[in-house]
Amino acid sequence: MSYIKDKYQRFRQWQQQPFDYQDGHEHHRCCNCGNNSDNNYCPRCGQKAIYGPITWHSVGTGILDVWGVGTRSLPYSLWQLIWRPGYLIRDYISGKRQASFPPVKMLVIVAIALALLNNLFGMNYSDNLSGVAATDYESLIDGVYEWMGDHLAWAALIGFSFFIVPVWFLFRQAPRLPRHTLPQGFYIQVFIGVQFLMFMLLLILLFFSTLNKSNNGSEATAIMVVIILPIMLMCDYKQLFGYGWWGTIWRVLVSLLLMLFVGKVVNSIGGIIYYLYEQQWAASAKYLAKGVDRLVLMWVILEIVNIINTKSWRNGIWGKPFMRLLLAIAVLLITTLVCNRLGVDNSIDSIIGSMGAIYMND
Ligand SMILES: [Zn+2]
Repeated sequence: MSYIKDKYQRFRQWQQQPFDYQDGHEHHRCCNCGNNSDNNYCPRCGQKAIYGPITWHSVGTGILDVWGVGTRSLPYSLWQLIWRPGYLIRDYISGKRQASFPPVKMLVIVAIALALLNNLFGMNYSDNLSGVAATDYESLIDGVYEWMGDHLAWAALIGFSFFIVPVWFLFRQAPRLPRHTLPQGFYIQVFIGVQFLMFMLLLILLFFSTLNKSNNGSEATAIMVVIILPIMLMCDYKQLFGYGWWGTIWRVLVSLLLMLFVGKVVNSIGGIIYYLYEQQWAASAKYLAKGVDRLVLMWVILEIVNIINTKSWRNGIWGKPFMRLLLAIAVLLITTLVCNRLGVDNSIDSIIGSMGAIYMND
């Protein structure tokens, strides 16, 4: 029993602090510039101390260099994304760049690997939409989805970038990473995108390829989004931001909700532009109403989150935040009425529809 406890404690220690950089302190003469030193790297030209004349060994490390070396190697970075994802992300964005393989590169490589695997197993993602020329905005969007199925790195980057602002807002007061910036938020989502694609790859490799020869990619995506993504985000954000389980759970759920809204708002903006270009003013106005309505519902949610985040009532501040919430709700009522009048689905119907589509499997 104590053996397991000991193991676990060492695992926790590794999770929080896996790196142990040590200086070689061996006196050497730099092969590049001839400077004498006893550091790991030459202080004059920056060449690594271990580089001697070229041998078969350096051929080996030269080839492995493609995948990064030491703590920065790709396999080790992916390994860390399984066992200490949140800590790794925090290390990286707070300046420990040597802790990880470059994240954007990693995203591209994992996406390529997944695309190859999809090809190998003949995974099928689209419901056969191809061949139909885009005649209106909806079919154009279908085309975009299809394109994203073929360009997984971009799809992950676009999809997860919808999380940047919601997560920034939800975790602003986080105990371990207060006031993270939007560029840091970008890297957070890149790492999570890598993690998502990696788990998808493992899922397909383990279950879809062998178990029942199912090659339904939409099914694999559904499992990822409904089951694995929430668990992933829980672990990531708990380690990264340092809230307890409940504080993390509700923020993850709200971030998923808000991410859907960001997607809807982007979709509406696309619709406005598309129909302006086509000079169909009425259709454009409908998308404008939709977009504004979704934005206002986001505003309501953000006001509620703000009240919970700052816990202003504890300091006896009841007025301002609650007034802003009431104002947001009042505006939402108006935009909902406008949507109903124009005959477009309002944001509340729309979100219930999307939830149904995602979680009830149609
Ligand atoms: Zn040197």
